[in-house]
Parts: sequence; C-alpha cells; structure tokens
Amino acid sequence: MPILVDRIADLIGLRDRDELDVALVRLTWELLGTGAKAVAILRPVGEEADMRWLTRIRFTADQVVPAINLTVTAQEDLPKLAEYPEHHATMISGQVRRYHGSKALTLFPLSAEHEGLGVFEVETELSLPAETERLLASLLRIYHNFQGLLDYGERDTLTNLLNRKTFDGVFLKTTLGARAPEPPTLDDRRHAGSGPRHWLGVIDIDHFKRVNDTYGHLIGDEVLILMARLMRSSFRFHDHIYRFGGEEFAVLVQCEQEGDAMAAFERFRLNAQAHAFPQVGNITVSTGLTALRPDDTPSEAFERADKALYHAKGHGRNQVCDHADLVTTGEVVEADTINAEAEFF
Ligand code: GH3
Ligand code: MG
Ligand code: MG
Repeated sequence: MPILVDRIADLIGLRDRDELDVALVRLTWELLGTGAKAVAILRPVGEEADMRWLTRIRFTADQVVPAINLTVTAQEDLPKLAEYPEHHATMISGQVRRYHGSKALTLFPLSAEHEGLGVFEVETELSLPAETERLLASLLRIYHNFQGLLDYGERDTLTNLLNRKTFDGVFLKTTLGARAPEPPTLDDRRHAGSGPRHWLGVIDIDHFKRVNDTYGHLIGDEVLILMARLMRSSFRFHDHIYRFGGEEFAVLVQCEQEGDAMAAFERFRLNAQAHAFPQVGNITVSTGLTALRPDDTPSEAFERADKALYHAKGHGRNQVCDHADLVTTGEVVEADTINAEAEFF
C-alpha cells in the first residue's frame, strides 16, 4: 500500500497530460500483475457528427512501450465510435461495464472536464476481482480530479480553450520532432524537408469593439464562446487552439502538405464568415500565418504571425495572410534583415 501511495504522489506531481496518461496506465499494469493482457486509454475526437476513437496509449503483454500517437494519425483512419460498441456503451452510460469472452474486459468511463469523455480499458485473463475494480475506480477518480486541476490552470474559463500560459511548452514540445538539423534559413519554404510541418496562426476578430459597444459585453462574450466552438470544428483534433487574450486566438497546426495550413485557416475564416451569430449577425476574422522554423522560439514565431495579422488588418480584414508570402512580395521586411542592416550602419 505505501508503494501505491508513493506512485500516486508521483502521478500527481506530473504536469504533462501525456506523461500523466502513461503513468496511469503503467501503474494499473503493475497493480494487475501477471493476469494483465492490455490496459488502454481511449478518447473520442473530432466533430460531433463524426467522432472517432483515438487510442492515446495502450500497454499489452508484448508491447510495453506506450503508443501515444496523437499527431501522425489522420482522423479518417481512426475507428468510428460505433465500431467499438462496448466502449461506446460505457461512455454513454457513465458506468463500469464488464464483458467476458476469451478474456475479461472491464471498461471504466473516463471524464475530464474539457478533454471530453473517454474510456479506460482493462483486459485481463480472468475477470477482475471486485476489490481490484474498486481500487482502479478510486485511482481513476484521483486522475479525473487531477485533470480538472490541470484544466483550471491551463484553460481559459470563458471559452475552455488553452490559455497563453501553456503556449511555450506546447510549442516547444510539438515542434521538437520537426526540428530538422538543417541550417536555418530566412525563407520558410526552403527547408520543407520530409515529414509533417508546423504552422502558427494568430486570429483576431474584426471590429469586435463594435460588437461590445453595440450589443453589450454579454453578447460579446457569447460571440467569443461561439468562435471557440467554430475553431474546434474547423481545425483537426491534434491542433492546439489558444485564447491569447481578448478577442485574439492562436492555433498551432501540423500539416503534411504545403498549402494545407493555409487551407485550414481559410476554412475557419469562411466558417466564421458564414455563421449567423445570434443578434449580431455576421462577423469576420483576420489571420496572420507563419511556418515554424527549426530554430524558432515561440516569441519569434508569434512575432512573424502577428506582423502578417497586422498586414491583414490594414488591407481589408477578413483574410489570411502568410508571412512568407508578404516577405516574397516585399510587403513585409524580415526582422533579421532589419537587424543586419542596422548592424551594417
Ligand atoms: P480590429 O478589427 O482592428 O481587430 O478591431 P477590434 O475592434 O476588434 O479591435 P480592438 O483591439 O480595438 O478591440 C478589441 C475589443 O475586444 C476591446 C474589448 O472591448 C473587447 N474584448 C476584449 N476582451 C473581451 C472579453 O473577454 N469579452 C468581451 N465581451 N469583449 C472583450
Ligand atoms: Mg479585433
Ligand atoms: Mg485584438
């Protein structure tokens, strides 16, 4: 028992959700001992009309390495909710469900305030003893409460989007794998390399002050909530959406193809433009976009996207401007070039 308490103390010392999921599954695996066949965390992702199962992590007897694979999976390749009817039933009912075939499957409903629901799957040789089931249920309650605590610090209370505080950490973590050992270059497109690449878009609602001034703050807040919802449905499940403050948002996206990032932000722009906001009617958004570079810091990338956004605001709003395009056309001058010139004189 003291070992278990120790391990729980370790668990709640973690601040990273991926690590937390790994630790939970690993601890459960150890608690189950030799009878364990598989332990997994599955979460529904995607738009409401087409939700899919994402296996965040799975431990099996022959694969003890966690298999978190959030980014390389295309949403269309994931199984639909109905393809795992037992898991689906567990999630809907919110009750522990037990299934017996050649092995025993115990499914625990998972809930985390804003990550949506999920299922904790335990597959064992023999059916799970009631005492073990209770122990796991208690462990999941600790996990759930801890997730709530993390949410409280990391999420914006109005929109439930991530807040600015977590941006730097996620930026460095998500772009780490994409940091090719190539020399940095001023042209975003020249070091495309292989594999997925990341883009940062900064989105700002057009003439939002007018909304507040005309309809009041409450309606303004309602628009922000609806915008956040539109963003969630316009971007992919593995993209990271932040409310940076006020009516400004940042989205970190990962795309395989050149042009896909622009297409994603353009899709959101059109979705926003087409949406009829209650009382207010139509609202548009402007976006500044930039491809991330291997040597980027969060603030450098943000500065480029912000420059492109500023350009969009000054040239008619309701558009997505790519920083690299603006540099190519000479409409924006690279900060490095300015510094180089300043040093020269
Ligand atoms: P632009 O198209 O140039 O972006 O114009 P704008 O009016 O959107 O920009 P500006 O920065 O002048 O105004 C932003 C406004 O956003 C000011 C403030 O009233 C409003 N705002 C900021 N935070 C909140 C919030 O949490 N709720 C509401 N309702 N309004 C907010
Ligand atoms: Mg604005
Ligand atoms: Mg603004």
